[in-house]
Amino acid sequence: MSVPTANLVEVFWSAQGEGPFVGAPTVFVRFGGCDLRCRWCDSPHTWKPSEACSFQDPQGGPDRIRSNPVPLQDVLEAIFDLGPRPGDFVSLTGGEPLLQAGMAGAVARTIREHGLRAHLETHGLAVDGLSRLEGRMDVISMDWKSPTEVRNAVPDRYPHFATTHRDFLRRAIELADSVYVKWVISDRTSLTELDEVCQVINEVAPSIPLILQPVTPAGGVQSRLEAKVLLGWLRQARERLRDARLIPQTHPLIGTR
Ligand code: SF4
Repeated sequence: MSVPTANLVEVFWSAQGEGPFVGAPTVFVRFGGCDLRCRWCDSPHTWKPSEACSFQDPQGGPDRIRSNPVPLQDVLEAIFDLGPRPGDFVSLTGGEPLLQAGMAGAVARTIREHGLRAHLETHGLAVDGLSRLEGRMDVISMDWKSPTEVRNAVPDRYPHFATTHRDFLRRAIELADSVYVKWVISDRTSLTELDEVCQVINEVAPSIPLILQPVTPAGGVQSRLEAKVLLGWLRQARERLRDARLIPQTHPLIGTR
């Protein structure tokens, strides 16, 4: 039997910086490779598979550098070396973890057997990767991607984002105990698309929370939205959904990765 391997960028411990579990102690497993190019992406170093990955040293020493691909056993050791306690999250993030669904599923299965919670962060378009996932996740954080925010919309692979997100969400609620949709709002956000997002959520499961995440200046985005604009979007979402929240990214404020 072949040993699963993955292209990883890093494994490290930090506080969750986004979404409804913000602040929760979390071990992050960052996968290498992403097929989108969001204009505000803060992790462009993850777009291409990485030659090497870094494992955070639990004693605070220099990161240990490993060449890719990394076997499953080494990924698990890197996670458990960081001392997660039962109930803590392990975030499978990227990059896009579902482009390496075999490894994402294998990591999730094992850590769940040890009482940890698997939190998948995904761009929400790789329906085929989600279908190949063996086993369950505790939480799936599905980004809603706007075609106007993505530089290469890879049209052959994802011809229509909204339809693909709907299909993804339908499958996600079967695979995870908790699912939420995260949508980065910027000066390109439109009411038409908000209607589309809310329609999909209400069609799939009205209890799914929508997290409005104000864009953080990065990449091709230079400025923030004003508070009154952000609250305006929250008000609009609240009129259409059962559960809408406005949660900014906290890791840039704290200075954590
Ligand atoms: S999906 Fe995530 S990693 Fe990929 S380009 Fe967008 S923000 Fe960056």
